[in-house]
Amino acid sequence: MPGKHSHHQKYITIPIAAITLLVLIIGVGGYLFYKNFKELNLTKIELANTKSNLAQSEANAKKLSEDLDIERYINSTFSRQISEIAGTVGKLDQLSKTDKELLQKYSKVYFLNENYVPENLTDILPDYLYDKSKQTKMHAKVLPFLKSMIVAAKADGINLEIISAYRSFGQQIALKDNYTVVYGSGANTFSADQGYSEHQLGTTIDFTTAELGSNYSVFEKSDAYNWLLKNAYKYGFILSYQKGNAYYEFEPWHWRFIGRSLADMLRQENKIFYNVDQRTIDNYLIKIFD
Ligand SMILES: [Zn+2]
Repeated sequence: MPGKHSHHQKYITIPIAAITLLVLIIGVGGYLFYKNFKELNLTKIELANTKSNLAQSEANAKKLSEDLDIERYINSTFSRQISEIAGTVGKLDQLSKTDKELLQKYSKVYFLNENYVPENLTDILPDYLYDKSKQTKMHAKVLPFLKSMIVAAKADGINLEIISAYRSFGQQIALKDNYTVVYGSGANTFSADQGYSEHQLGTTIDFTTAELGSNYSVFEKSDAYNWLLKNAYKYGFILSYQKGNAYYEFEPWHWRFIGRSLADMLRQENKIFYNVDQRTIDNYLIKIFD
């Protein structure tokens, strides 16, 4: 029965085609799935690699940063040490360049060398002088302190004027001769001995006021003298020969610059410059112009 057979065969052909198609679909699908899955896996691996690289980079960066911190610390420590050494050297250098005579105590037996001349003398402006026509010099580094003091005094109604500042050895001799002529033998205690060396330093000033003028022998009674007793230390000046001192006759007009820190110490401890040990005084030399 061929007819029956072919009819039957037709029925069988359809499932075979369907199965073939299904197998094909599964095959292709499987392949595509496999391919995608493989790529996905590769991507995952790449991602993991990237992550690992990133972590490595971060670790490297952290290490670099730590190294940099260490480097910075070493550098800052080193530069601090350098600057400390430089500071010490600078101070020693400054000290070696600071004139030791400026804080020396001079007495009737200990004089400044006759050849001594201060390192830098400068002219005082005539405005500050009692005798505006008399050229007067002083130590250049002390001048700013003197100016500040005169300005402050003026603000308090005190008109300080300078009678005398730097005097060379020769000028001092001439002055002594002059006084000898006028006052006879009394000149020894009045002029030449008194503050002899201190004027040769260029740091010492004899004051009067606009009101007293040349009549400064009565300076003790002036408001200017009281003002100086209260305020001169702030500008580094002290009264060298106080009333009743054991060294010289009392000279109320004669003020010596010793620097603010030493003047302040003397005031706080109620001490007199000429009574303080020279070694103690010398510790203030480095700060004399501060
Ligand atoms: Zn004097």
